[in-house]
Amino acid sequence: MTEVEVWNADETLLHRVAVRHAVRMIWRGVATPVEVHATQRIGPYRVPVVVRLVRYVEQKWLYSRTRATYSREGVLLRDRGQCAYCGRFAATTMDHVLPRSRGGATSWSNAVAACEPCNASKGDRTPEEARMPLRWDPFVPTRVQLHFARATTPTRTPTESARKEPVR
Ligand SMILES: [Zn+2]
Repeated sequence: MTEVEVWNADETLLHRVAVRHAVRMIWRGVATPVEVHATQRIGPYRVPVVVRLVRYVEQKWLYSRTRATYSREGVLLRDRGQCAYCGRFAATTMDHVLPRSRGGATSWSNAVAACEPCNASKGDRTPEEARMPLRWDPFVPTRVQLHFARATTPTRTPTESARKEPVR
């Protein structure tokens, strides 16, 4: 299958993505189909030819390789809401890998997303002491990585779901 054109909200071409990626964007409500294939389907969807982003994205910002500014919300986004200890997509808290009380920094490389039970049971210990090995090494994301994490991480706020448009 060919690739799908992704238009910005002002209908300028941003880039091209794989069909499955485009369908996921539609399903998550971040893009709407502009043009669909006459006969081909993927699951319940007509195969899109062109999709348009629901919200306008600054291209200068989108393509910058700038490191993202550290934030607690950013850590949850970077890890896509997945707990770094148990792997469940239930992380609502941020955990300092090396606890702050032990000199751990508040930084991208010392912070992971964690679910409340894991965060509570780890407490003021290192992953080794708590015998809770990390499932991945925390890294410093670029702004682009965070942008795409935001676009592909389901949100639960009512305003977001209200923005979703029905897909034929
Ligand atoms: Zn957990």
